[in-house]
Amino acid sequence: MSRLGETGRRMGSLVLSWGAVKHGAADPSDGKNVVLHEFAHQLDFENHAVDGVPGLATREQQLSWSEVMRSEFASLRTADETGMPTLLNTYGATDPAEFFAVSVEAFFEQPRALRARHPKLYAELRNYFNQDPVEYSGEILGEEQRLSS
Ligand SMILES: [Zn+2]
Repeated sequence: MSRLGETGRRMGSLVLSWGAVKHGAADPSDGKNVVLHEFAHQLDFENHAVDGVPGLATREQQLSWSEVMRSEFASLRTADETGMPTLLNTYGATDPAEFFAVSVEAFFEQPRALRARHPKLYAELRNYFNQDPVEYSGEILGEEQRLSS
């Protein structure tokens, strides 16, 4: 399989397949977007560790982030192992860095569904990015999510 996208460990290195970029943009609400995914890895590298933790301003934010991400990552791993349906791409069960990247894809592409099903994860990402995509998203919800949000 050809490369869809790749982020170098050195800041500023990012390779994207144009086909994958267009594919990611074709459906802005499917939770799959290689540009968002690879830029999330760049943000993760900001503090020079590939661990799913971007540069956070305060110790309080770091503690909150760690607690929420650890719990959400464990839930996704369990769901992946047991075949439970998930909103988040199960590629995120690979490791915490991939978990952060697929969470960012869902945050911007499926914010209402993410907020409804993973409110703590949504809140951490909203605080980190200092924006609330629910306010401007054109996301179309399925019947189940309309009823629960
Ligand atoms: Zn990745």
